[in-house]
Amino acid sequence: MASKKLLHDVEKLIASQLVEWPQAADNYKALAGVKVKTLDVDGMKVKVQFNPARIVSSSAKVDAKSLKERKCFLCEANRPAVQSGIEWCDYVVLINPFPIFPRHLTIPDRSHVDQLIKGRVADMMRLACELEGYTVFYNGPKCGASAPDHMHFQAGNSDFLTLADALKISSRNPIIVDRRGNLSALRGLPLNMFLISAIDFEYGQKLFDRLYDALPVPAGEAEPMMNLLCFKQGDTVNLAVIPRKRHRPSFYGTEGEGCMLLSPASVDMGGVFITPLEKDFKRMDADLVRKIYDELCLDLHDVADIVDRLKSKM
Ligand SMILES: [Zn+2]
Repeated sequence: MASKKLLHDVEKLIASQLVEWPQAADNYKALAGVKVKTLDVDGMKVKVQFNPARIVSSSAKVDAKSLKERKCFLCEANRPAVQSGIEWCDYVVLINPFPIFPRHLTIPDRSHVDQLIKGRVADMMRLACELEGYTVFYNGPKCGASAPDHMHFQAGNSDFLTLADALKISSRNPIIVDRRGNLSALRGLPLNMFLISAIDFEYGQKLFDRLYDALPVPAGEAEPMMNLLCFKQGDTVNLAVIPRKRHRPSFYGTEGEGCMLLSPASVDMGGVFITPLEKDFKRMDADLVRKIYDELCLDLHDVADIVDRLKSKM
């Protein structure tokens, strides 16, 4: 059985930081009043959140030059003195001062190393297991991470996302089946994804490595583009792997007809779109969600190619 210690310590951390850190407390208070609307996208429930405080993240410049010129906000030396954390393995668990979730954590590595997922999925599954009730997520360096130069996970209370319900309406095409865990391609959702379900996290890491090796790596990138969402369900940990082919929608921007300030990451893939501008919040509908998923995620041919590559190596 997973230890409940981390979960208990995290609840205490959130409570104390909201007392000690007025800026964070204000942002959490403001979050309680943000507007949310719900859409039905081909049977998947998708929420849209109007969250003006997230403009910093949605418009973040993540090119190499901009990163070099700013101080890394995930390094201990640059974090606000009032921000405290809980050490967990190589990581530290912090509260996110610009929340999307009512309980929102940022979990950086303790050293300043690039945002790369290789070798870290077992950690992610262990975290999700110890943080039952939270979804732990990873945004690839070109898939929504606003600090692609410093490895970090995030986590938020799972009941806020619609992913778990979406998994129930999906059908599974099993690729690797073992008593320690399974890898499937999911069908019937408005976005294409793979699912790893594991009771043995080292084996979950192995399944992920197989999938990772079968995913395309865009020119100039260090790893396949992806968002990952991981949560515990019963005795199993589920890891949704959402391969991406594009960083931001073709109509990303702040000016010009039809432009929208959307920088989709794991949370949007998990069923909650974040719009920092009210005009974009009003405009979002099921057709736009479909268009964004189509532009950013893999199509059925791409998925079939990956499944072929996985099977040819078995
Ligand atoms: Zn750093």
